[in-house]
Order: sequence, then structure tokens, then C-alpha cells
Amino acid sequence: MIDDIDSLRTPAYRKKLAQCIHCGLCLQACPTYAIFGVEMDSPRGRIVLMKAASEGRIAPDEFKEAFTRHILLCLACRACETACPSGVQYGALIEEARIVVERNRRLGWAERFLRWLGVQQLMARPALLKFTARLMWLYEKVGVQGLVRRLNFLPPALKAMEGILPPIRLSFTPFARLLPARGETRGRVLFFAGCIQEGFLSPVNAATIRVLQRNGYEVLAPPNQTCCGAAHLHLGDKAGAQQLARRNIDAFRAAGDCVAIIANAGGCGVSLKEYTHLLADDAQYAAAARQFSAQVQDVNEFLAANLRLPPRGRLPARAVYSDSCHLRHGQKVARQPRDLLKLVPGLELVELAAPDRCCGSAGVYNIAQVETANAVLDAKMADIAACGADLIVTSNTGCYMQLVAGVRRANLKARVLHVVEVLDASYANGQQ
Ligand code: SF4
Ligand code: SF4
Repeated sequence: MIDDIDSLRTPAYRKKLAQCIHCGLCLQACPTYAIFGVEMDSPRGRIVLMKAASEGRIAPDEFKEAFTRHILLCLACRACETACPSGVQYGALIEEARIVVERNRRLGWAERFLRWLGVQQLMARPALLKFTARLMWLYEKVGVQGLVRRLNFLPPALKAMEGILPPIRLSFTPFARLLPARGETRGRVLFFAGCIQEGFLSPVNAATIRVLQRNGYEVLAPPNQTCCGAAHLHLGDKAGAQQLARRNIDAFRAAGDCVAIIANAGGCGVSLKEYTHLLADDAQYAAAARQFSAQVQDVNEFLAANLRLPPRGRLPARAVYSDSCHLRHGQKVARQPRDLLKLVPGLELVELAAPDRCCGSAGVYNIAQVETANAVLDAKMADIAACGADLIVTSNTGCYMQLVAGVRRANLKARVLHVVEVLDASYANGQQ
């Protein structure tokens, strides 16, 4: 018996499945197909599986094994969506399939505990996350991290989590404080700080705010904002994601009017833009969700359209831009970060052979599917090494942490920065 499979049997879901004409043009874009070379680990194969489940042609034991395995191995990177000539909404299809898979899975106690701790507690509670960030800062500073890595005794999931910890610098966002624009004010933007981003990559948030201020915007990070809910959805917890979405909508509504709501992580941004769909059936919040999502812009998108101050400070480096899948395929923002980087004096921007190929971070994929995530990461690092880059630029929290781990894993001499950190450094060098 397969529980709660009805969401795969709705006319709307079947209509989305029917858009696939099985042409196979998406196969070469798919990182898991590249690794396994198996049809069932390609977008087309997974769509065939989803169709079989939708039409009741999958036996419970097949569902628990083959269906679950192939669905969970998908990175949900949505590269197939960009490649598809038929407009298949693969992201929506895989999201629903995952929810059903997760409802039917029996997890071990360790996985249940880690999910409860990481996703239910830490990500949804900014104060607790900041406390953890301080502990991790100490863990890195006093040398315990080096010892833990040398002794190599952690169980696989914890080892994977520890392995993606970036060097932590604490520079938390001043929530609820209106930060003034520099020069003539062009308007107010509301800033979405993210959960992991604010905890472990707070300097990126600080740089985002400074760059917005330098370009004439006053910035307010509304208090009571919380995690975007992407990880909850990734793990099939739609109700949890909806609850966080309502909290964010309330928090930003209370902050008043703005020119835009700015997100600086591709994964968070696409979730915020998709609150419209997440809360479409919520009579109380559907209209507010539409209004909220319409205001969200990725920081690259916003700056490319509104840059008042071209960066003047030299930043000599050979740089590659590694696309965030959710920014490129989910939000269709690929040109803007490149345009911004090309403005920086001294920065030589070179293209990767496969800039749009996932780095293996993919939400919590690098913790849940360690081996495959590492295979995807190794391909990305080989591409970066071949370019001879000494600077890797990205625009998403998960990618940033995954690429820092990749640099260590591949023994490269390269820094990882967010686009806004590059702009911020150039402004600082140019004394702007
Ligand atoms: S989302 Fe990514 S990993 Fe999943 S089928 Fe599409 S291209 Fe492959
Ligand atoms: S998802 Fe799109 S590209 Fe892939 S097989 Fe179906 S129609 Fe073709």
C-alpha cells in the first residue's frame, strides 16, 4: 500500500506529466544521467516513473525501492527544465513526487534526529542558529576542527555536514534597523537574510547591505523573518514550508512599503518567488503570497538593473562564475551576475566548460546523497581547475559552502566569493 499518493493523481499533475514528449533533449543536461548513464536517472526516465505512479501502475514494493531511489537521486537542479523544448515544469513534478516519497519512507533514528535538529529547530529559529554559528566559530578558531578532520571518526551524515562548514566570520545583520542610503536616496529595499546564510555566511549579507546602500538604497531587514522553507520542501515537509512562508509574509508585510524584497541566495530567492504556488490554496494567504512573490528580486537581478555606482577599485584575479542552479534554471538569472562581474577592473572573467552544471550542493543533497554529490562536485572542480581560476564566484549559500569544500577536496588554490563580495571589495579598493 502506498500512502498519500493522491497528489500525483490530480488532473493538474497529470497535465504537467503529459507535456513531456519523451524527446530526450534534456538528457545531456542532467548531472545524474552523466554519472550513472541510466535512463531511470535521467529526467525522461523519472517522468516515466512519475507517470506510472500517477496511473497506479507501480506496485508498493517497486515504489519503495526503484521509484524512491531514482526520485531521491535527482538533484532537483532543474537543468532539464531549461533544456526542455516542450516547457515541462520538472521542478513542480519532482517536488510533489518527493513529498510522496518522504511520506512513505521509514527513517532511522539518526536521520530523524538530524532532520529534527537541523531543519525543524536550527533553520526555523534564527537565535538558535546564531548561537550555533558562534559555537562553530569557536570550534574552528581553537583548532578542534583540525583535530576532528584528522581523526576522521564522525558518522557519514555528520561528516558531510562538518565537511561543508565554511571558515566562519561573524558579522550578523542588524535586523529592524533602517540602514541609510549613501548619497541621494532612491528608495527602500527590504532584505531577506536567510537562515544558514545569516548563520554561517553573514559577511555575504553584510556586503549585500553595503552594496545596496552605496547604490542609493536604504535597507531594512525585517525582524521575525525566518527560513524560506526550501529545505523543508526538499525533505517533503510541505506543511512546514507553508508555515514558514506565512511567517515571512507577515514579517515583510509589517515592514511596510518597499521598492523590492532582496534575496542574495539563488535557492532562497526561488522559494520566495514560488510562495504564490506554495500558498495558492490558502484562502487567507493566497493574495498576500502573490503580492510578496512579485516583489522578490535576486540581488544580481536588482543591481544589474539599478547600479548607480560602477565599481572602480582594481581586483586582479582570474575568475569563474559558477551558476546557482536555482538562480539560473529556477529564476532565469544568468546574464546579470556576469554583467556585474565584467564591470570590476582587473577581474578577468573566464567561462567554465559547463557553468550551468550543478555543484552537488542541491539543498541538503550533499548531506543526504554524499557519494553522488561528491561525484558531481569532482566534475565541477575539474572544470574549474582546467580554467586556471584563482577566484570562484557564486550566488547561493549552498553552492558557496559546497565550492569551499570542493577547493579543499581538489587541493586548489582558489578563493570562493559571492558576486556582492566582489563588488564590495572593488568599491572598498576604489575608496568609493
Ligand atoms: S533536476 Fe537535475 S538531476 Fe534531476 S532530472 Fe533534472 S537535470 Fe537531472
Ligand atoms: S522533459 Fe522535455 S526535454 Fe526531457 S524528454 Fe520530456 S519533453 Fe523532452
